Amino acid sequence: MSAQILMGKEIAEKIKQDVRKNLEDLKTKGITPKLVAVQVGENPSSAVYLNAQKKSCQAIGINHEVKNLDKNISESEIIHFIQQLNENKDITGIILQLPLPQGVDVRKVQSTIAPEKDVEGVNPANLGWIVYGKPVLAPCTALAVKELIDSTGVDLYGKEVVMVGHSDIVGKPVSLLLVDKFATVSICHIGTSEKGMLETHVKMAEVLVVAVGKAHLIKGDIIKEGAIVIDVGINKLGDKIVGDVEFETAKEKASWITPVPGGVGPVTTAILLRNTVIAAKILSQKV
Ligand code: NAP
Repeated sequence: MSAQILMGKEIAEKIKQDVRKNLEDLKTKGITPKLVAVQVGENPSSAVYLNAQKKSCQAIGINHEVKNLDKNISESEIIHFIQQLNENKDITGIILQLPLPQGVDVRKVQSTIAPEKDVEGVNPANLGWIVYGKPVLAPCTALAVKELIDSTGVDLYGKEVVMVGHSDIVGKPVSLLLVDKFATVSICHIGTSEKGMLETHVKMAEVLVVAVGKAHLIKGDIIKEGAIVIDVGINKLGDKIVGDVEFETAKEKASWITPVPGGVGPVTTAILLRNTVIAAKILSQKV
């Protein structure tokens, strides 16, 4: 079998069409969303990411600004800065760029972002809505994974799903979003690998989602024939960007597979735009 390739760009374009319509609606009410990304200290790869973010916001008609804070700033000063953004009525969305300097409690700072401006869905209130089965502003990558699976048209009811990786922004929310569709979800992590059980779980997966950050961790020989494979990982291997799944061998076993780059990434970006519009709508209804 050679898999059908899930091209992120096509799904992202559909999402963006919807975003454009909603932006038009907001503009008739005199609202232009404004997204502020907070970056602490210098980080070349974050700078590239933020530039791309700015470009996609501006291309669709969302204002975007990057606020650079000094790398020596204290945790309480970052929190104070975010509180000011929360209170600023011109700002409708806030992104906290990671990593933060050592010693700063990331979750404490994320919890400070006003839930209705939290376009990356990292505030515990927004994560909690996923547990309730009513996501409002959920983490963009987790929603992107769900969109990509939905685009295959495969019903998740009773399907064996294996989520490799249990981060707050990908593995955990993806698992909850899919459990809500009555999939049987196993969550694998470093403990699974160290116990030598990763292969056993992966071999069972009818839907396999991998978000680890290790180039080619999963090879085609352990993928179940006909599985849907969603590769979230982004890794540099020599001069190439590759995923956590070895694409060339995996595509011979899977029925559907995302490429890296070009799979999850573009959909994540489109969902960030969608979340930004949702946040602006929520705020406009509060006024
Ligand atoms: P993360 O916070 O570092 O989480 C990685 C997860 O993988 C952790 O749960 C970790 O477990 C687990 N893990 C590490 N080694 C493992 C192994 N050998 N076997 C099984 N599990 C293992 O990373 P993340 O933020 O979720 O991101 C994961 C990857 O996705 C990265 O490559 C990142 O760049 C990429 N990413 C892509 C997008 C996109 O839009 N395409 C968005 C976000 C992230 P422990 O914590 O227990 O060690």
